[in-house]
Amino acid sequence: MIQDHSSLIEGKRKFLFCADSEGARSLYILVRQAMDENVPFDFQIFSEESEEGFVDEWFSQQKMGAYLYISGKADFVKRMQGEAIKAGFSEHDWQLLTIGSAKKRLVCCTCHSESEVEDETHVTCIHCGQELEVSDHYSRRLDAYLGYVSIK
Ligand SMILES: [Zn+2]
Repeated sequence: MIQDHSSLIEGKRKFLFCADSEGARSLYILVRQAMDENVPFDFQIFSEESEEGFVDEWFSQQKMGAYLYISGKADFVKRMQGEAIKAGFSEHDWQLLTIGSAKKRLVCCTCHSESEVEDETHVTCIHCGQELEVSDHYSRRLDAYLGYVSIK
């Protein structure tokens, strides 16, 4: 799924921008828009060494109804996504901008084993040989995307 990162999602009370040093640049257009439109926002750049407690605290200060943009390397995005979930955000409350190749975990709907995929839309399960379609259905419980039987 290709998301449009060139304009802010509408109807949100507050935006939270969080990035690592590499991801910050991709957020500038959005931050600028938030400034122009006078929408409250919080822009935080975390370093790799940012303490767990500091990240926790930043998330815990945020109120419901805020919308989150996370931008950075895959590891960073994943870590922040985990923190956001802990703070009560759901996958409807954020957009992820991954810099570089984004590996994601895929769970096979047939044998339930996990594999890693990047940009592929169809893969063959390395465990059971099932042809899978990579969905954008993210399971919080499994922390993975679901791979459905591919119908050709
Ligand atoms: Zn399988």
